[in-house]
Amino acid sequence: MSRPVPNPGILDIAPYTPGKRPVPEPGRKVFKLSANETPFGPSPKAIEVYKQAAAHLEDYPEGTSRVLREAIGRAFGLDPNRIICGAGSDEILNLLAHTYLRHGDEAISTTHGFLVYPIATKASGAINVVAPETNFTADVDAILKLVSPRTKLVWLANPNNPTGTYLPFDEIKRLRAGLPLHVLLVLDAAYSDYVSRNDYELGIELVATTDNTVMTHTFSKIHGLAALRVGWMFGPAHIVDAVNRTRGPFNVSTPAMLAAVAAIEDTAHVQMSKAHTEKWRGWLTEEIGKLDLKVTPSVANFVLIHFPLEKGRTSADADAFLTKRGLVLRALNNYGLPHALRMSIGTEEANRLVVDGLRDFVARK
Ligand SMILES: *Cc1c(COP(=O)(O)O)cnc(C)c1O
Repeated sequence: MSRPVPNPGILDIAPYTPGKRPVPEPGRKVFKLSANETPFGPSPKAIEVYKQAAAHLEDYPEGTSRVLREAIGRAFGLDPNRIICGAGSDEILNLLAHTYLRHGDEAISTTHGFLVYPIATKASGAINVVAPETNFTADVDAILKLVSPRTKLVWLANPNNPTGTYLPFDEIKRLRAGLPLHVLLVLDAAYSDYVSRNDYELGIELVATTDNTVMTHTFSKIHGLAALRVGWMFGPAHIVDAVNRTRGPFNVSTPAMLAAVAAIEDTAHVQMSKAHTEKWRGWLTEEIGKLDLKVTPSVANFVLIHFPLEKGRTSADADAFLTKRGLVLRALNNYGLPHALRMSIGTEEANRLVVDGLRDFVARK
């Protein structure tokens, strides 16, 4: 070999394409509704704490994110020793893959699962096995059918991004019960704060009562701290121990850690955001539905809008039309959803503008 060669699997990875950066038409206000960010920003208390942390940038962070693990523990009723914090949940997902997958193993995700899963799987040299969904929803039987002697891990976002659908806790328990004991089940609860369904649970009970299930969560969504990169995981002691050995010793920065503590303690800010999301999710689903466009019922802070294949009326046409008006949604070609757009729920102004825009788009000759 005349030059360094990446490990097997690395060059099979399709590079992650983030939501596009809006290019405003002159004079248009831009609404970025493409990355499921909160329209409210973080708690003002988190911003204040972050600014104060600027006075101590020469000091290394406390390496175990202790104050943040304790704050999360208080908020969710969890043992802080069973929590690991990371630079976004992306880091945690990758640490899990590095710790539990190797060349030749298989990891299962679903057709329209979060794109970070196949990336983490393939980066570890493992094979990404894709389970079909039913009505844009993960299908427990389809996942179980694909389990082979090589299966080591199952990735499941609940609710899922970009579909907005979820599985009731009974189904999650049925999935766990059907998987071999050595298979790690990763429940990604990034959007759990937006769900208000009686049959939904984050999975804490499963993590607490089994030896093979972890739950990941993030400060990027309802807490509005996506720029700071903070996520966390709750898991069995033996998994926490293993992952802690592979984790970088200072993987969460002090300003991020302290801002996250302030954010999780500002429950009023979270409640406000949740109530807003619920109200406008219902409104958007109904109003967009009236335009003869299908909207997949969502429990998260975004909706999936389906477009016809007819020339001039496709999702790409709608995307171009809305972008001109400063309304930036997310095209989903690399999620296997070329005929849909995902819209993050925004401010009242943004939501109304999108519905007006779609109405004009559908009505135009
Ligand atoms: C946004 C999102 C996350 C959060 O990722 P971070 O790295 O914590 O910002 C995790 N999982 C899913 C499914 C997401 O959509």
